[in-house]
Amino acid sequence: MGDVMEGLTTRDLHLWMQDFAATVQAAQHHLSELDAAAGDADHGSNLARGLQAVLLALPGLQGTPGLVCKEIGLVLVDTIGGSSGALYGTVFLRLAQAAGLTSTEITLPALAQGFRAAAQGITDRGGAQRGDKTMLDAVGPAADALTTAVAEKTPLASALALAAYAAEGGAEATRAMQARRGKASYVGAKSIGTADPGATSAAFLIRSLAAHCLASTTASAGHENAT
Ligand code: ADP
Ligand code: MG
Repeated sequence: MGDVMEGLTTRDLHLWMQDFAATVQAAQHHLSELDAAAGDADHGSNLARGLQAVLLALPGLQGTPGLVCKEIGLVLVDTIGGSSGALYGTVFLRLAQAAGLTSTEITLPALAQGFRAAAQGITDRGGAQRGDKTMLDAVGPAADALTTAVAEKTPLASALALAAYAAEGGAEATRAMQARRGKASYVGAKSIGTADPGATSAAFLIRSLAAHCLASTTASAGHENAT
């Protein structure tokens, strides 16, 4: 029997957040430059600050994955600031609801449900629809890919790789869009030609999770070969 990853544990969430924080730290300047094109040039620093706070809180977050997602969401709302703080917070609060507060793993169906709810949460909080050049343009396609993966019984790590790919395609597609929400909407057509910073960082978020799951699936396959 393969030691295939069936669901996300609290330890997986910790490793996901560590990877995402490192990615955002490295891409901080790039994200703020994207935000400078049509916004106020602070998306990279906002997100980096929020993730530093998450990293500091992580050792104390040892409950179920659902509880940990909820705590991460609350930390992000408190520390990112800006519109993206409330929206990133909403993503994690919706993931927490889908995970439930008692399960010890977040299964692929729960994760798909969580990302669908997260996409809906972004619309509920900020009024964005797809095509408005926001983080929804990365989170929405990722939710779709996870939903398809559930229907096709795709293993978790492969499902997340497909979701990351979909999110990256969605983020890339925002380059050609005109912003209709957030600060970038104030500059009209001037927002066309640069990718949306929030969609770009949301694609990083999902890529980090996919990379972690792939690494741990590969690691457990290697372990199996060795024994
Ligand atoms: P702020 O816009 O307050 O400076 P950030 O720069 O941290 O916050 O984040 C900007 C990102 O937030 C945008 O690139 C976009 O993806 C996202 N965003 C802003 N407003 C909305 C909204 N109403 N709906 C969805 N996403 C939004
Ligand atoms: Mg900004």
